Amino acid sequence: MLRSGFFWKLYAGYSALILISCAIVGIMISQRVGNDVLAEIRQSLKAQAILLEEATIQGFAQADDAAWQVRIRALGAKIDARFTIIRADGVVIADSNENPAEMDNHADRSELHEAQAKGLGTAIRFSNTLRMNMMYLALPVQNEGRLLGYIRTALPLSAIDQRLNHIRSAVVLGAGLSALLALLLGLLVTRHFVQPLASMTTVAESMSCGDYDKRLPVSRKDEIGELARAFNRMAESCRERTDTIVADRNKLSAILSGMTEGVVAVNQDERVVHLNQAAAALLGATPKECLNEPIWQVTRMREVSEILGDTLRDKTDAQRSLRIATSSSDRLIEMHASPLHDGQGKVVGAVAVLHDVSELHRLETVRREFVANASHELKTPITAIRGLVETLIDDKELEPEQRDRFLEKIKDQSLRLSSIVTDLLTLSRLESDGNQSAKATFDLRDVVIASVKDFMLISEERGIALETQLPDVPLETMGDEEALCQVVSNLLDNALKYTPENGRVWARLERRDDYGVIEVQDTGIGIEPKDRNRIFERFYRVDKARSRELGGTGLGLSIVKHIALSHGGHVTVDSDPGMGSVFRVFIPLASTSK
Ligand code: ADP
Repeated sequence: MLRSGFFWKLYAGYSALILISCAIVGIMISQRVGNDVLAEIRQSLKAQAILLEEATIQGFAQADDAAWQVRIRALGAKIDARFTIIRADGVVIADSNENPAEMDNHADRSELHEAQAKGLGTAIRFSNTLRMNMMYLALPVQNEGRLLGYIRTALPLSAIDQRLNHIRSAVVLGAGLSALLALLLGLLVTRHFVQPLASMTTVAESMSCGDYDKRLPVSRKDEIGELARAFNRMAESCRERTDTIVADRNKLSAILSGMTEGVVAVNQDERVVHLNQAAAALLGATPKECLNEPIWQVTRMREVSEILGDTLRDKTDAQRSLRIATSSSDRLIEMHASPLHDGQGKVVGAVAVLHDVSELHRLETVRREFVANASHELKTPITAIRGLVETLIDDKELEPEQRDRFLEKIKDQSLRLSSIVTDLLTLSRLESDGNQSAKATFDLRDVVIASVKDFMLISEERGIALETQLPDVPLETMGDEEALCQVVSNLLDNALKYTPENGRVWARLERRDDYGVIEVQDTGIGIEPKDRNRIFERFYRVDKARSRELGGTGLGLSIVKHIALSHGGHVTVDSDPGMGSVFRVFIPLASTSK
């Protein structure tokens, strides 16, 4: 508190007031007392003169100057004062201190003039006779209206000064002590008032630094106590509001960072005020490092700074697309920017939401391609059937063998249509069911045995040896048994289709860690490396004509892949063109098998 400028200013003002007051009072008292002392002395000199008046009249009557001198000198010796008897013409006839014969004529003395005029005269002046300052009082002596002379009483001023000095020192001492006491009291009073202000300043400074926990003591009952209570209430409400703001900000921040869409907000100077994790990932930036940086420095993607700049300038919403192509990915971002307003509706910044629509875009492309492929696949048999039927209708003279051949072709194309539709329905069911399909626990060996059984006859017809290799123990899994039978059937169907006569096909089941692995191997034509990843796509066929000829739809492997994924597994392919292929389907085993 002693370092408080306000304290010292207040105390200095108070001290100046006290000192000036004391000085004024001291001077006034000193002057008053001085005047009183002079008046008292004058009164005393006057009394002495009056007491001498009778005797002086008699003295003038006797006209014995020597006797007078003796009496006056004796009187002067008794009373500590000087007496002078002066004739009306100014000649000194007796003096208590000096020889009258040696004294000047006093007719010109001012006190005598004043006494003659006013009946009493006083003067303070330097006495040539006594060589000191004196106070004189002259009283005219009259007998029956005739001025006989003057009685003059005098006192050396040194005596008066001495008395005055005593009084003055008493006054100065008193005023000094009072001032000292007042200054000490002032120190306590100033401290009493400045101390709460200093505490309030400390608490206010803490509040400005974000610490709202400090409180002021509220023991006082006066206005300062009331102010302290109001201050504490203000601190409490500030703390509550700050807590609410912080909680809201954290909530908003959590929401923004949890969003899959990127959010970038800038202020009016186009400096970043918020950048969530998703936006940072899209723009290749770090949220913390970007704060307060100009947006054009944060990202090299011109479109992002442009859309935010346009929104700030035009104060309207804006929409734009952005393509981010890297060596590993090609992303399409939809950007939507809006201006940010403050409480008064003034634009204070802009926010852009970046929506990664690459997946949507990809799915849309897949859907379009699928519709085109499906239409094309369906159109081919339909066109063939239509052509054959039209020929049959138009040409009544058609040979019976040719008619039978046409009908046989119509049957084939119908079967093909039916296969495509069946496969499409299977795929659609798998996609719409997701993991909702009927689940049961079953032995994978049963799945392989049942599927192989269906192909025994076909393999014999095609002159291909079909062998089964199964483990001795059951390998149980949880899932859709019918779907897994379709997996094995599709793989066996392909193996037999793409393996020439005298070839071999194996259907195996084995355990690898927590997976049951269904393996279908053939000694067929094999698959080129460039096609291996694509054969699982819908309608993808290495050799379209051959596949069609063999009754393939191009959907078999995509069904296999879909079923494997829906069971939490996956499918792989190894192939040596011209030598054969191995398809492996990994299906997680049920916990009872583990
Ligand atoms: P498809 O009905 O034409 O057989 P799939 O989806 O079952 O359709 O197979 C896609 C393509 O993969 C086939 O057209 C074929 O070219 C190739 N393929 C599948 N299985 C084999 C295999 N065992 N040997 C050689 N090529 C195969």
